Amino acid sequence: MKKHILVVGGGFAGINLIKSLKNDKRFKITLVDQNNYHFFPPLIYQVATSFIEASNISYPFRKLFSESKNVNYHMGKLVQVYPDKKTIETDTGTLSYDYLVLAMGTESNFFGMENVQKCALPMKTIEEALYLRNHILLTFEEASRNKDMEKAERLQNIVIAGGGPTGVELAGMLAEMGKYIAQKEYPEIKLGLSHLYLIDALPSLLSPMSDLAKKTAYQTLEELGVKILLNVSVKDYVDGKVILSDGRSIETETLIWTSGVIGREVHGVPETSIGKGRRLLVDAYNKVEETTNIYAVGDLCLMLSEEKYPKGHPQLAQVAIQQGKNLAANFKRIEDGKVLEPFRYNDKGSMAIISKYNAVVDLPKYSFKGFIAWLTWLFIHIIPLVGFGSKIRLALDWLRLFITNNPSIRLILFPKRNTGN
Ligand SMILES: Cc1cc2nc3c(=O)[nH]c(=O)nc-3n(C[C@H](O)[C@H](O)[C@H](O)COP(=O)(O)OP(=O)(O)OC[C@H]3O[C@@H](n4cnc5c(N)ncnc54)[C@H](O)[C@@H]3O)c2cc1C
Repeated sequence: MKKHILVVGGGFAGINLIKSLKNDKRFKITLVDQNNYHFFPPLIYQVATSFIEASNISYPFRKLFSESKNVNYHMGKLVQVYPDKKTIETDTGTLSYDYLVLAMGTESNFFGMENVQKCALPMKTIEEALYLRNHILLTFEEASRNKDMEKAERLQNIVIAGGGPTGVELAGMLAEMGKYIAQKEYPEIKLGLSHLYLIDALPSLLSPMSDLAKKTAYQTLEELGVKILLNVSVKDYVDGKVILSDGRSIETETLIWTSGVIGREVHGVPETSIGKGRRLLVDAYNKVEETTNIYAVGDLCLMLSEEKYPKGHPQLAQVAIQQGKNLAANFKRIEDGKVLEPFRYNDKGSMAIISKYNAVVDLPKYSFKGFIAWLTWLFIHIIPLVGFGSKIRLALDWLRLFITNNPSIRLILFPKRNTGN
């Protein structure tokens, strides 16, 4: 009898697990995902800033697994797990499993601030990135029509909350957009009134990275004109005003939220299996505590058993990829009657792009910055893209865009049905 593995979530963890088991006749695999495509979050900020197309970093699941005879795709959103019945309920039907793998990642964490959740612009999914892209372009248009000086700052200011790699990369890209594009294409806007703020509650940008990376990010962004506010956090967002913890406020229509994440909610697993950051507590083999045959991998899980990471692994692509592969290998070991291998994270380093031709790279024993770091960043971000065609297309697009400084995809598009009006 084939074992039915149900994988919920086709991000880095989910698809790497499936790729390692595809065409293995002992398993039947069903991938459940609310979207019909896999996407690459590290480059999503380039979609949000109209630099690249969403299709550059996304790939349809059905195409990805069209050659894999034992893999099916089910479009749906997980609603509830029923461990006793070994089934899950999705918004598009009920599915049963022998092994369930939860790989749904995280969502934005607004830390209970209702107004921020309602009005800030998160950037975790392709839809959110496209919404942000439309919002920025629409606000540029409104700013170019605006004659009311009191309103000008609110329209032209942009606030990014979160000085991690995503916030830093986005700030660099937006600052360069102002320099290369806004000056040329929006002559009506008085750019002297525009300010780009980057805010973080911690004392430095890129806090988990090396001192070299922190210093380089700060200096480069400051030179690009970004106003960096550290040791301060967003407390509220009312009437177009971002309220800060030190009492200051900034007028803006655009508060971009890259401040934190929380595990996607899973109904049906024991409450005691849910740990800090709503991550599912797993053992060294990624099995969810106090369950049988339910596993969690990637950002959604919290593994406290590896000595080097007593507080759990960082929520990074490499952790998700390696956990997906290790769990797949363990499923094979179960079938072969072999001893299982605990997960051990192989840290390959981290990096962030700060501006054109400037990035920072932290390898486990060595850090570097500048043009070589920038080339390394480009290369490393092309390799894991799904599909050879996507890699080539993105490489060519980047070459053209970095030379011209001017992508031509700044289109404000709202898909809607023609109602005849
Ligand atoms: C903007 C951004 C930039 C980043 N930059 C970097 C970087 O430079 N380097 C790095 O290492 N990491 C980076 N990360 C983190 C990295 O993307 C994550 O660690 C990684 O994606 C985690 O993989 P995952 O498979 O656990 O989850 P994800 O990649 O988040 O995939 C989750 C999948 O589950 C699906 N899903 C969610 N909920 C449901 C549901 N209820 N039902 C069905 N399907 C569902 C989603 O559609 C998605 O396909 C970044 C993240 C973001 C958001």
